[in-house]
Amino acid sequence: MTGRKRHVAIAGAGPAGLAAALYIARDGHRVTVYERFAEPKPVGSGLILQPTGLSVLADLGLFGEISKLGSRIDRLHGTDAESGRTVLDVRYDARPGGRYGVAVHRAALFGVLYRAALSEGIEIVTGAELDAVETGEQTQLVDATGRRHGAFDLVIDASGARSTLRRSAGFTAGSKQLVYGAFWASLDWRGAGFDERALTQRYRRASVMIGVLPIGRVEPNGRKMAAFFWSLKPADAERVQGKGLAAWKAEVAALWPECQAYLDQIEDFDQLTLARYGHHTLPNPAARGFAVIGDAAHSTSPQLGQGANMALLDAAALAHALRQASDIDEALAAYVRTRRWHIRLFQMLSLAFTPFYQSDSVLLPLLRDRLVATVAKLSPAPQLLASIVAGTLIDPFAPAGLKEVDWTERGEERPVRIPA
Ligand SMILES: Cc1cc2nc3c(=O)[nH]c(=O)nc-3n(C[C@H](O)[C@H](O)[C@H](O)COP(=O)(O)OP(=O)(O)OC[C@H]3O[C@@H](n4cnc5c(N)ncnc54)[C@H](O)[C@@H]3O)c2cc1C
Repeated sequence: MTGRKRHVAIAGAGPAGLAAALYIARDGHRVTVYERFAEPKPVGSGLILQPTGLSVLADLGLFGEISKLGSRIDRLHGTDAESGRTVLDVRYDARPGGRYGVAVHRAALFGVLYRAALSEGIEIVTGAELDAVETGEQTQLVDATGRRHGAFDLVIDASGARSTLRRSAGFTAGSKQLVYGAFWASLDWRGAGFDERALTQRYRRASVMIGVLPIGRVEPNGRKMAAFFWSLKPADAERVQGKGLAAWKAEVAALWPECQAYLDQIEDFDQLTLARYGHHTLPNPAARGFAVIGDAAHSTSPQLGQGANMALLDAAALAHALRQASDIDEALAAYVRTRRWHIRLFQMLSLAFTPFYQSDSVLLPLLRDRLVATVAKLSPAPQLLASIVAGTLIDPFAPAGLKEVDWTERGEERPVRIPA
């Protein structure tokens, strides 16, 4: 698609939309991002940027900025609340190469991408709730007031898991609501009893999961923060709230006394956001003049912590395909092809792992605690688990035109783009 300047519209200023905007604008095309919020803002608490997502940010020249804000993560560690037995211990360094993750507040990731987009003069239309996409010779967008926008050479749907655009384009996602969700809160970091380089979790069977993730700072001089979460069924949220905050805090503290320092910061249930998780995978996330990326194309429970990373990989892969192909149709076919197996594999793994940590099953957590915890120590399980968490079980980089960050250089170097 070299030579001709195209007009590309992107629905949604989340990680997928903003990363795609940066890539495509840098390739010389005109980009307009539409975002429903009057003032773009991130929703939710923290997330782990895996070696995959970090390599995309490095490719965009944003690795240094995000690393300074975030908190380096070397391992994921979980224990059974009653026996104290370790039932999850995944270390990135189980594989050679020096990989690690970086946990961030969503606002930090959003801020880094958004500032880059603004500084590069990318047009961002806010307060624009999009309703539908009309595909054809050229593609148009229709907003909630019925106003048409475009025509565009390409519309990219990056509007998240509840996309209305994909539905209007006739994509049936077959979304499945997952039984468990979670209460999430962003709180001030309290180190006593916690490893600052780990996601730490406590479980009681699979029906209770409590987690503490250090997520660094939102601004360079801001306070250090932690994401705190408590797994529950959204259907039970009202009942839990009905029993009162003190009763809920007592239940958490009984299972994990060190959490008191976090519980002391929660004065109202309003500080906790109830997250619901759904699972869907579009088999073919593109149509004429229309591509679907990120959560709009595939979403799942955050058990494996891949969603934002997959969204960033999609953006890189789509931009790479647009750069390489001779026209948009060819580029969209290449985008779908290059992301297909990585997405399917991780969607399948997320669906398979989630009930071991979030379900009413009695058998699965028993297996997890007795069998899996033992087997997971024997080679090659630690290496395999490290690759699953890193998102690198199959190569996500080359198909997206990326080179993995050189971790031995602490990732300060920008990776070299693979030549066409
Ligand atoms: C509680 C929780 C914990 C998570 N933890 C992790 C983790 O540890 N690691 C990880 O990688 N992922 C995690 N995820 C998943 C991750 O948040 C998502 O995969 C990621 O945000 C997807 O990015 P996106 O850009 O595709 O969509 P989104 O981040 O959802 O962004 C979509 C954007 O589109 C806008 N929009 C929506 N509809 C419209 C419309 N009609 N018109 C205009 N604009 C619109 C929205 O306002 C938003 O700005 C977690 C998710 C949840 C809920």
